[in-house]
Amino acid sequence: MILIIFNFAAMLEDKNTSKTQLSDLGEFGLIKHLTKHFNITHKSTVYGIGDDAAVLAFEGDQCVVTTDLLVEGVHFDLSYVPLKHLGYKAVMVNLSDVYAMNATATQITVSIAVSNRFPLEALEELYAGIKTAADIYKVDVIGGDTTSSTTGLLISVTAVGQAKADDIVYRNGAKESDLLVVTGDLGAAYLGLQVLEREKEVFKVNPNSQPDLDQYSYLIERQLKPEARKDIPELLKGLEVKPTSMIDISDGLSSEIMHLCEQSEVGVHLYENKIPLDPTVISTCEEFNLNSTTVALNGGEDYELLFTIKQEDYPKIKANPNLTVIGHITNKDQGAALITRANEKIALQAQGWNPIKNN
Ligand SMILES: [Mg+2]
Repeated sequence: MILIIFNFAAMLEDKNTSKTQLSDLGEFGLIKHLTKHFNITHKSTVYGIGDDAAVLAFEGDQCVVTTDLLVEGVHFDLSYVPLKHLGYKAVMVNLSDVYAMNATATQITVSIAVSNRFPLEALEELYAGIKTAADIYKVDVIGGDTTSSTTGLLISVTAVGQAKADDIVYRNGAKESDLLVVTGDLGAAYLGLQVLEREKEVFKVNPNSQPDLDQYSYLIERQLKPEARKDIPELLKGLEVKPTSMIDISDGLSSEIMHLCEQSEVGVHLYENKIPLDPTVISTCEEFNLNSTTVALNGGEDYELLFTIKQEDYPKIKANPNLTVIGHITNKDQGAALITRANEKIALQAQGWNPIKNN
């Protein structure tokens, strides 16, 4: 449930009243305090927090490792992102990459850099979100680091997972005539961000305004508290479908499709009328005067999975409401193209969210 919005700024400002300064604990005391509730559940975690390094053992499986860095002011804005949700999301964006390899996520490490404007209570909120994510997604928190930052908050999560060598799915396996499939629906997280940015502007003018965001709750939830698709590798296994290639959608459908095409050396026809959109996305696009296809293609942060399957596997997936066939793989010479509702063919462009490019 997304209820707390715009309250957090106030919490940071009153740190000098009853809040605990981080310097009171020292680095080791802080780590100990923040991680004391984390439990180890995986057999593959031989040793977690407490020594110079964690020890892992994956009998016979291969191990996948991925890492992401989230920076305040670049990836998140604390004026409307509750720290608990931020902790949760920081874990999700990493687990999503593990699932995109068709692997099981098993461990994470969490490192943060914070300025002294954050009281201990703020970090407890952040770690409560991390713990919630670790509990629900069944991953062990096995280490990390805390250090100081001169400006904002930085969070780096590394996720570890395991899979049989034969089960791992790479980006480079798509073949001509394969079907392109996406999970869930697209564009909502981007619109959630647009709603929050708009409310922030309203809030600046009138800090006492209490926005009624009920109609946008799905969009805001997708932005603030995304869920990684842990269920999809399990679902596909149950259906006896192994994707030929797979990637998660962090930067937008368009750029992820282009990654698959480039690495598989193929082209694609993506059908505009097949792109799955939630009704709230359609209505909010109208309100914001945005094109819903553009939002789905370039919005990003949906954390859905995009994959290709052999045509012969289609009967196994066609009845599943989580999965939508949105196109098919073509010869490389045909390029990556969007087939519009008017049956026009337009070259896809990677306009996904790219902080480095924007700079
Ligand atoms: Mg990814």
